[in-house]
Amino acid sequence: MTFPKSKPRILTGDRPTGPLHLGHYVGTLANRVRLQSDYDCFFIIADLHTLTTAPTKDRTSTISLRARGLVLDYLSVGIDPSRCVIYQQSQVPQVAYLSLIFSMLVSVPRCQRVPTLKEVMHDLNIEKPSLGLLTYPVLQAADILMVKANLVPVGKDQESHIEVTREIADTFNKLYGEVFPVPEALIGHIPSLVGTDGQAKMSKSVGNCIYLSDDEATVNQKVKDMYTDPNRIRATDPGKVEGNPVFIYHDAFNDNKAEIADLKDRYLHGRVGDVEVKDKLALAINKFLTPIRDRRARYQNQPALIEDIISSGSVTAASVAQKTLNEVLAAMGIS
Ligand code: ATP
Ligand code: MG
Repeated sequence: MTFPKSKPRILTGDRPTGPLHLGHYVGTLANRVRLQSDYDCFFIIADLHTLTTAPTKDRTSTISLRARGLVLDYLSVGIDPSRCVIYQQSQVPQVAYLSLIFSMLVSVPRCQRVPTLKEVMHDLNIEKPSLGLLTYPVLQAADILMVKANLVPVGKDQESHIEVTREIADTFNKLYGEVFPVPEALIGHIPSLVGTDGQAKMSKSVGNCIYLSDDEATVNQKVKDMYTDPNRIRATDPGKVEGNPVFIYHDAFNDNKAEIADLKDRYLHGRVGDVEVKDKLALAINKFLTPIRDRRARYQNQPALIEDIISSGSVTAASVAQKTLNEVLAAMGIS
């Protein structure tokens, strides 16, 4: 990989809290795969960010296992490790230093206004957020700006965090001179995919997910149990298509557009049962997942390769980070 900078840069990533799902795919992974040859890509396994909500020993001691699972998910969707830097946040300590500096450039009320803070507190029943949870977007800004990323492909829920990053970059540049690009968020073609429960966004911690690693039988069962139009009792009742998760998934994962149009038309007029709609959806999702499963099968018996991807990626990221940190300190006149 050629550094210094030859192409515009991407930084994005995931917290190693569990396996990746269809929501991740449409929200951010599809963009990563699509853009990996046009950008220098950094994909972060944001393990320090998991401490903001789950700092217990049973969680921290299994981070590295989940990190390896995350890399396998990346490889399965087609992220090419020879073109992208995949690294583990905790192996790049420079980010903590940069985060400390950034924490002086953003106010407490600004962090309190970030909508995900209230959402996470509500979802996870957290009464008093830790300082770390409050400054989650500041650490994320350090991740993004440390590699001077121009573009951050994320799901809709992360947009408010990228706004904080942009403000921090701008404040820093105004105070000390132009060091950072002001990065843009790139939201996926489905900004927030609803879960199989039809109630909330698909999310690891809610348990309403179809995982990229689910086998065929699991997908079939999950689709069978999916929430549809609750007001439709019989197949002859006219149904609601808009906002119906079954049709949202058809639109997202079924490449047979004529079939979708036909199913929607018959659903609206009470001429098709949920069973047929769901059977066709399960087939479509399994077809979509087939190349992902094939790649997973190829990579899953190569643990040494996965170790190497993380360790060499972390070395590369740390050297980029150190260079940025040196520039930051020099710009501030601290060196
Ligand atoms: P957790 O429940 O631990 O927060 P999560 O399933 O919400 O997990 P994250 O690790 O928070 O996933 O998200 C990683 C990336 O995937 C982010 O860019 C996020 O915006 C995107 N993403 C997550 N869920 C969805 C979804 N349902 N639709 C679109 N994008 C999503
Ligand atoms: Mg989340």
